[in-house]
Amino acid sequence: MPSRAEKLTRGRTSAGIVAQRLLTSAAMVGIDMSGRRVLVMGVTNKHSLGWAIAERLIAAGATVGFTYQGERLKGSVEGLAEELEDCPVLPCDVTVEEELSRVFAELGERWGSLDGVVHAIAFAPREAMLGRYIDTTPADWVTALSVSAYSLVAIARHAEALMNEGAAMVTLTYYAAEKVVPKYNVMGVAKSALEASVRYLAYDLGPKGIRVNAVSAGPVKTVAARSIPGFMAMYTKVAEMAPLQRGVSHEEVGNLGLYLLSPLSSGTTGETVYVDSGYHVMGMQLPEE
Ligand code: NAP
Repeated sequence: MPSRAEKLTRGRTSAGIVAQRLLTSAAMVGIDMSGRRVLVMGVTNKHSLGWAIAERLIAAGATVGFTYQGERLKGSVEGLAEELEDCPVLPCDVTVEEELSRVFAELGERWGSLDGVVHAIAFAPREAMLGRYIDTTPADWVTALSVSAYSLVAIARHAEALMNEGAAMVTLTYYAAEKVVPKYNVMGVAKSALEASVRYLAYDLGPKGIRVNAVSAGPVKTVAARSIPGFMAMYTKVAEMAPLQRGVSHEEVGNLGLYLLSPLSSGTTGETVYVDSGYHVMGMQLPEE
């Protein structure tokens, strides 16, 4: 059965000529990131969502570099980067201004400029996620907001001078920014601040042609996720309730990150985009009949 485009190409109408062009270029539509340099911040191991995005970037031809927090993770991240060409692997605790300055100075010397930054970093003390939100201490509030939300602002400020026109920043967020997810507590508030920061940073950097977006991922098994009390229950519940009736894979999160860093999403900024099997569109679940 001929496709609609094939039927159109049979006549010599202008629509037919356009359709012919579409047919011949169809195989060429893809994401080509060759020649683009992207820094991925916040990788612990091969299960990290930062690594999931890095894998897809690499598959699309990008050059990637990594930062990790502290000596403890050095070997693991260097192991992942071992086979990659021109891949800086640098330590960076994002709460330390001097470490941020050093990372972007080193990147400036090595790469000269940047086409993308992935922010895959979050932390809240476990005690702040065990009890009631009302009991959050000032210290835990500051830690969670500072590591998980302010760090994006600090990174954007340090990266700004290096980012080329057309560059993009991507951060990772979660639905608990908008609705109550029990136990997520102060981390939900940190994600709200993160999503608001994405909008303000998009406004600040837009005139330079730099975009900023957030990937809102459904639960995926990673080190950070497993440290959230009740994570496995959350994981199962999403698969039960989501329209697609399953969770999401690392690769699906990576693909959305890649898209938002690529020129294919050139008209999108300040946005929170979901990869959660559609869970966030549900308002209610009824018992099975
Ligand atoms: P992950 O592999 O544990 O990555 C989180 C990273 O943040 C770790 O490498 C961690 O380092 C780093 N980090 C924490 N504090 C830091 C600091 N002060 N300076 C620099 N790095 C720091 O877990 P992940 O799930 O991939 O998390 C990545 C992002 O995805 C987070 O923003 C998370 O909230 C978000 N997210 C995850 C899910 C999910 O279900 N997994 C869903 C939605 C959103 P350490 O290991 O040293 O602490």
